[in-house]
Amino acid sequence: MAQATDILIIGGAVIGSSIAWWLSREAGLKITVIERDPTYQQASTALSAASIRLQFSNPLNVAISRFGADFIRDFSSLFPEAESAHDLAFKENGYLFLASNKEQADILRRNHVTQLGQGAETVLLTPDEVKARYPFLNCDDIVLAALGRRHEGWFDNMGLLSGLKKLARRNGVEYLQGEVVDLVMEGRRIRRAVLRDGRVLDARIFINAAGPRGGKVAAMADVEIPIAPRKRTTFVFQTPEPPPPDAPLVSDFRGVYFRPEGGFWMGAVQPEQDRDAAFDDFDPDYAQFEQMLWPRLAQRAQIFEAIRMKRAWAGHYAFNRFDQNAIIGQHPQVDNLILANGFSGHGLQQAPAIGRGIAELVVHGHYTSLDLSPLGMERIIEGRPYLEENII
Ligand SMILES: Cc1cc2nc3c(=O)[nH]c(=O)nc-3n(C[C@H](O)[C@H](O)[C@H](O)COP(=O)(O)OP(=O)(O)OC[C@H]3O[C@@H](n4cnc5c(N)ncnc54)[C@H](O)[C@@H]3O)c2cc1C
Repeated sequence: MAQATDILIIGGAVIGSSIAWWLSREAGLKITVIERDPTYQQASTALSAASIRLQFSNPLNVAISRFGADFIRDFSSLFPEAESAHDLAFKENGYLFLASNKEQADILRRNHVTQLGQGAETVLLTPDEVKARYPFLNCDDIVLAALGRRHEGWFDNMGLLSGLKKLARRNGVEYLQGEVVDLVMEGRRIRRAVLRDGRVLDARIFINAAGPRGGKVAAMADVEIPIAPRKRTTFVFQTPEPPPPDAPLVSDFRGVYFRPEGGFWMGAVQPEQDRDAAFDDFDPDYAQFEQMLWPRLAQRAQIFEAIRMKRAWAGHYAFNRFDQNAIIGQHPQVDNLILANGFSGHGLQQAPAIGRGIAELVVHGHYTSLDLSPLGMERIIEGRPYLEENII
């Protein structure tokens, strides 16, 4: 016999759990989260670089992360028990974007105006100002930089996930282990989800929070969304001296970023040939370290000339091939399917605002705080990209 629920969330990592918790604050809804792997070994959430920035080109992305930063900083206040247990150790050291030519500097200037308009505290810095703040950096090739003075840095990704799950469960959300392998349609509606082990779950509303597998789940409802897994390898490395305490996350326009990670550093480079990955391919691309990352690091700072790689892991972006932005909201062709997909490289920081927005959509039928409708599926069907230029 089918088990019945009001809302079935497919995928119980950070996005699914944020939606579950925000929804659970509304009385009277039975909410079920179905998760194929509660160890989250291959979830983007667990394999993330766990950083947050307001330095986006798209004002909505700035506003989404602005809300996320406060949420992350104040997360422990949501718990009645010892606050320190749920502190997400938000290290607000900022992102430092480096421009090496006029074209890149113009992008930083343009984004700076957008970001200030959404409450960001980005400042533009000359090469001398960068050098004065961060003497370890080589600024010879730099013409301008942008630094987020607040609301940017890194935090405990799994702490956010486990905290949201705990809060959701306290409010009565049920987490089930299982993999949705089919959705049974009745006209324009999904009637039920079928699990790999044969169980069936009926629901009024189905929410796709399946991360890089979001395209597969949409296909079960006979619709297509342009999401595919893209592999990213993250490296942790050691320098003779630990990172300076105020070191930021540094990103340049060549697809390289690095930041402190405890007493070590971590960093990554965008692959030269970025192709869709197999769903089960989590082999780190070690060649990237020697061939691409290390030479660029050594060029950026002398301290990176003698580094030792400690470990590496690969994770998948749920990459939106259309415009590298999230796809949020009701699917126009399936009346009870809500999408929370395609976060590319910035879904962890977006989880608080996305969870809030989707709860508003379910409860009120429209967004009541931040209007997320520009991120709807309609733009894709109509061929109108809603671009984010600042993808790391
Ligand atoms: C290397 C890397 C670095 C990143 N760095 C950052 C960063 O610095 N800042 C940032 O904000 N974001 C970053 N991201 C992106 C961020 O991690 C993701 O956008 C975010 O975690 C997405 O969360 P999610 O819940 O949508 O997806 P996931 O964490 O992938 O979770 C999806 C869940 O759905 C489950 N699932 C899938 N299919 C089914 C099914 N059929 N049935 C049941 N369950 C199913 C999966 O098991 C999984 O647990 C990074 C990602 C990677 C890979």
